[in-house]
Amino acid sequence: MSQESASAANFIRNQLRDELESGQGASIVTRFPPEPNGFLHVGHAKSICLNFGLAEQFGGVCHLRFDDTNPEKEEQVYIDAIKEDIQWLGFEWGGDVRFASDYFDTLYEWAQHLVREGKAYVDDLNAEQMREYRGTLTEPGKPSPHRERSVEENLDLLDRMRKGEFAEGEKSLRAKIDMAAPNINLRDPVLYRIRHARHHQTGDAWKIYPSYDFTHGQSDALEGVTHSICTLEFEDHRPLYEWFLANLPVPNTPRQIEFARLNLNYTVTSKRKLKLLVDQNIVDGWDDPRMPTISGMRRRGYTPASIRKFCDMIGVARAASVVDIHMLYHAIRSDLEDNAPRAMCVMKPLKVVLTNWDADREEVFEVPGHPARDDMGMRKLPMTKTLWIDQDDFMEEPPKKFFRLAPGKEVRLRNTYIIRCDEVIKNDAGDVVELHCSVDYDTLGKNPEDRKVKGVIHWVSETHGVPIEVRNYDNLFQVESPDKDKDIDFLEHLNPDSLEVCQAIGEPALAEARAEDRFQFERVGYFCADRYALDEGKRVFNRTVSLKDGWAKAQKKG
Ligand code: ATP
Ligand code: MG
Repeated sequence: MSQESASAANFIRNQLRDELESGQGASIVTRFPPEPNGFLHVGHAKSICLNFGLAEQFGGVCHLRFDDTNPEKEEQVYIDAIKEDIQWLGFEWGGDVRFASDYFDTLYEWAQHLVREGKAYVDDLNAEQMREYRGTLTEPGKPSPHRERSVEENLDLLDRMRKGEFAEGEKSLRAKIDMAAPNINLRDPVLYRIRHARHHQTGDAWKIYPSYDFTHGQSDALEGVTHSICTLEFEDHRPLYEWFLANLPVPNTPRQIEFARLNLNYTVTSKRKLKLLVDQNIVDGWDDPRMPTISGMRRRGYTPASIRKFCDMIGVARAASVVDIHMLYHAIRSDLEDNAPRAMCVMKPLKVVLTNWDADREEVFEVPGHPARDDMGMRKLPMTKTLWIDQDDFMEEPPKKFFRLAPGKEVRLRNTYIIRCDEVIKNDAGDVVELHCSVDYDTLGKNPEDRKVKGVIHWVSETHGVPIEVRNYDNLFQVESPDKDKDIDFLEHLNPDSLEVCQAIGEPALAEARAEDRFQFERVGYFCADRYALDEGKRVFNRTVSLKDGWAKAQKKG
């Protein structure tokens, strides 16, 4: 099997298959639980492909549940964007969109239940004191002076916390587990904290909000989730996840399985850091084509299939690793190689005048939309006396192996004739501004017999070319691990050349491009018509990826 079609190992998929085949459990329910405090990024795509993918594969369902327990940081715009991204990737959640806040009433009843059982108490320690009492990895914690309050007092205080009688931070509800537990997560974790904040779903109904730990597993249980698949940082929380399930009257018992999160080099995947890039206007919003967000990748020209393919290629394991971003580039490149129609586009135009071509003569060449795809039909390339070629395809004093245009040298204009450069016109500053060339009319569809002409370059008619803006994107960061060093601000590693804008000229077909249409600009790369520009009356193409495949090459070398 080729590298390309191989999907990497996925231990969770294997485990689920074994379970289903051996008759443990009839069907699976997974969930994807984003917090609506930012846009989804490529790391989330891995989690989405895993959770929705497993449900798809094994005939189960995957729930979309917003993990909305931090009202101050969450917003409706993020909820909308997250739903759009998941659907764009091609996944469907089972049932309605769910919110952890749907369960606030039940969670509160369960908190009261723990209090009645003597397994939770209201504490007056503030955050700093709590940290002091908690102990360290090597030292046990010590009990809070409020740990032995009576059930009645605890119930009364909890009720008053809920009613908003206390200030933020004045009290909290904690589980009463074990202040000496080797796993610090079990040293009386906080279940509820006071927040006088308005919540995007529940409005002003609550003055207290449950912690992540007190919410997550219980929400899973309430929804009948069978496998709660999360990233490795929750491994140490698993005993707590299980403690709640064991100590509450939950309707069923989901199981937590952890996997390694996706890390990509030259990229940051932390919503907090991505938000900083947005808030400081370093990028043009969450969906800037340089952002590793799903919406950014979409605007850049990635297809849903390429992102799903990439997630398949990287596999699912427990060992943390860093994935080479060229693998992501490879995934989109191989998709577009097969599926993007071709077009010619001159990035930095240099004028060519065909001296032996009549001024009003036009010849139209019909060429395939894609060399291997008859279904893409033919496109028309009109040729006229004056053309544009790329400045990079001409050199006045070329080195030996330069097979493009140079004074006295010949080159083939792609799909048409061979031309020879007879004269170079310069402006007063000495810059080359125009080339006078002659056409060899005996070279259409055949090579001359008396000489070899190796080079083929692309071109566009001056009369029919379409002016477009091309945005060439490069990595947002210059170094492989921008956030590795704790002492250096990751913003110091920004790549100053992550965006280059060219005023280019494309072949006539580009005038008809609609938002998100993708093309291979021959000899250059893959480009996508910007989602928004057309509405603003501009014709803008974003470079998705260049033609050169560094990753595939490295694989071959092995
Ligand atoms: P961030 O660290 O970027 O803020 P998060 O984990 O806080 O991300 P959530 O909204 O809580 O963001 O994530 C939703 C789901 O996506 C979680 O199950 C989480 O484990 C998973 N996830 C987040 N980042 C990655 C990643 N880099 N690779 C794989 N899964 C991820
Ligand atoms: Mg999180």
